[in-house]
Amino acid sequence: MQIAIDGPAGAGKSSVAKEVARRMNLNCLDTGAMYRAVTLKALKEGIDVHDGKRMGKLAKDCKLSVEYNENEGTLIFLDGEDVTGEIRSSRVNQHVSIVASSPELRKELVYLQRRVADESGGIVMEGRDIGTDVLTGADFKFFLYASIEERAKRRWLEMKSKGTDVDFNELLEEIATRDRLDEERKASPLKVAAGAKVIDTTNYSLEEAISAVLDFIKQNSEEGQ
Ligand code: C5P
Repeated sequence: MQIAIDGPAGAGKSSVAKEVARRMNLNCLDTGAMYRAVTLKALKEGIDVHDGKRMGKLAKDCKLSVEYNENEGTLIFLDGEDVTGEIRSSRVNQHVSIVASSPELRKELVYLQRRVADESGGIVMEGRDIGTDVLTGADFKFFLYASIEERAKRRWLEMKSKGTDVDFNELLEEIATRDRLDEERKASPLKVAAGAKVIDTTNYSLEEAISAVLDFIKQNSEEGQ
């Protein structure tokens, strides 16, 4: 069983994917964490994030591994070090979509993502290009979105609950920039995959969004089998 969940930042993908995986007893992979980890490495080493070829080489040369933890979701290790917390910094937020526009880098990460899926025995994978590129043959494809104000609000509340005070308008601006870069890039831009079930989570609680995904899977599994 392979379930692909795509959508912009703050649409609820990570929380929904984690919970759907837990309830269906599947593995789960947050692919954004991989793009973030390479971005972290580039920033630490002072490498120009606009140099797409260099980003590809960086992704190829670094040791990137993921672990799935039922409670915490995707844990990510860069050159043996757990960077799960560090990759959420605002510096990484500001640069990750530039790094992710490199076709060379995407090729490396998509290869790793497919390997994780092959070895998983069943997975919920979330990102921007899972249904359109990484797992085109997925059993179910979802595209989650929400208004930009709602998405920024969710991120703001999430950061506040972790003790990080950020300016709401700055956060909204950063998400809008990331949306634009992700939608307009040439390599695997963010778009709705053919056959994907589109879910607007603007007025949904987390539980409602999870139910929308699970109900769709249930209804369509029964009809298809
Ligand atoms: O999902 P998250 O917000 O952590 O992703 C961070 C960034 O990584 C996205 O804004 C996007 O630029 C990139 N990304 C991507 N393809 C994916 C997952 C993430 O380009 N499959």
